[in-house]
Amino acid sequence: MIIVLKNNATPEQINHICEKVKELGLTPQVSRGVERTIIGVIGEEEKLRAKPLEAFPGVDSVVPILRPYKLASREFKPEPTVFEMGNGVKVGGKKIIVMAGPCAVEGRDMLFRIATQVKKAGADFLRGGAFKPRTSPYSFQGLGEEGLKYLREVADEVGLLVVTEIMDSRHVDLVSEYADMLQIGARNMQNFELLKEVGLCKKPVLLKRGLSSTIKELLLSAEYLLSRGNFKVMLCERGIRTFETATRNTVDINAVPVLKEETHLPVLIDPSHGTGKRSYVGPVARAAVAVGADGLMIEVHDNPEEARSDGEQSLLPSGFEQLMKELRPIAHAVGRDI
Ligand code: PEP
Ligand code: MN
Repeated sequence: MIIVLKNNATPEQINHICEKVKELGLTPQVSRGVERTIIGVIGEEEKLRAKPLEAFPGVDSVVPILRPYKLASREFKPEPTVFEMGNGVKVGGKKIIVMAGPCAVEGRDMLFRIATQVKKAGADFLRGGAFKPRTSPYSFQGLGEEGLKYLREVADEVGLLVVTEIMDSRHVDLVSEYADMLQIGARNMQNFELLKEVGLCKKPVLLKRGLSSTIKELLLSAEYLLSRGNFKVMLCERGIRTFETATRNTVDINAVPVLKEETHLPVLIDPSHGTGKRSYVGPVARAAVAVGADGLMIEVHDNPEEARSDGEQSLLPSGFEQLMKELRPIAHAVGRDI
């Protein structure tokens, strides 16, 4: 349910309404938009219906949120969400943000070499997994905390932000110590305990769509984060499983306009996991920019033949640099920068 406030509602009136909502055992979320301030109320709405909220001073109207995802919906917040990272980089703004780096952190030297080159080409974030979700238990599982340390050190040296995957709800403090943004991977999109823990922390989150998840399920997972108080959430389309076997996954390019209509949260596309093949990454990245994505995640490795994971879909640093050049005019054509 949304309580729409009058333009001239005073802070005291807003506080009074919030107190009443809390008395009913519900949680108010105040959202101050450009046009209007609203209070979202999540929980058992029957309790609220019993109260004549329209009669409270400062209230203009009370409208139900029809979507199953409440806080993530455009009904709750019509303006797009833009949040600022520590170094001033804005997520969801005019500039399309780019996350690049190896699939996994394999060591400090390789990370430093790759980070230096992706930074020079225009990346904003260094990506790399320290905790890797691998299909086989015998595959490389990541360097753990050692990998996190390398990410932080290298990113600081080169001037990049760090985005890295968190797989375990017990690791929130550990990963938060090193990362600027926590990535919840496709396999954990519906790990609800992890979502709850990450929702309680203040770090921005990159939430990847599950391999076989619908857009509605993705938004309901985002709702777990938002309903715990973490609104710095970016959604990621990374390809879904379909009957098609020519590519590793099928990038659902439709997800961008659908999400743009349904939610205020920024949307990123990962053409690396989405296609699984180096030669397809560039074309799909170009499509992502054209379709209105707010960000891109691209795997880059300087020795893909020897990569410990996902070498076949990793661009060489030179290929990444070339792609960034190709993306610029497309971004400008759709009113964005990159
Ligand atoms: C990744 O980005 O490192 C990753 C494992 O991706 P996904 O969760 O989309 O498979
Ligand atoms: Mn990978």
